[in-house]
Amino acid sequence: MTKVNRLTVFCGSSENVDRLYFEAVEELGKQLALQGIEVVYGGGNVGLMGALARTVLKHGGKVTGIIPRKIYDNVEHVELSELIIVETMHERKAKMYDHGDAFIALPGGIGTLEELTEIFTWYQLEYHNKPIALLNTKNYYAPYHNMLDHMVSEGFLARQYMEPLLSHEDPIQLLEMIKNHSVPKMNKWNQDDLTERI
Ligand code: AMP
Repeated sequence: MTKVNRLTVFCGSSENVDRLYFEAVEELGKQLALQGIEVVYGGGNVGLMGALARTVLKHGGKVTGIIPRKIYDNVEHVELSELIIVETMHERKAKMYDHGDAFIALPGGIGTLEELTEIFTWYQLEYHNKPIALLNTKNYYAPYHNMLDHMVSEGFLARQYMEPLLSHEDPIQLLEMIKNHSVPKMNKWNQDDLTERI
């Protein structure tokens, strides 16, 4: 079981996407507000980022944005519950990862993919043992799943490192999966564990 007080969300900033993606985000945002789960995200006002923040706030939830000054100075803003302005992207991501009890990646572009893949890497390196969930609207993450399976079958990724990964197209079910999931601590640096993997 994972107690989720704060959820860190990675998501796309593009406006030019199918309405279905916005609908899924709005459903997720509403649920998070109703369930009293605080949202931590990149502080953006556009695309799925903006839609998520506005929906959570509209339903009485709490949203914390973490944004580098360079981006903050160049975009319009949603009035958030809390805004943390940092100097670098690395600082932003470290804070986002630290603040959440679990992570959800919504559909997104390379920025989203970077954050998702980085937090996945950090599990493998024993920096956390929090669930990492994919909101699989329109089966958006099928190619990512295929790539991971390919890494496993070619021996570049040990299957045990997939432990934190959850995926569902329905936001409510995905939240339930996160809450019901316990991610085992990795033991990468333990010799026994290493021999087991070979
Ligand atoms: P992408 O998935 O490529 O759309 O990138 C999403 C990521 O882009 C976010 O997590 C941010 O790092 C960054 N980003 C792009 N546009 C904005 C914006 N207007 N405000 C804040 N962050 C943004």
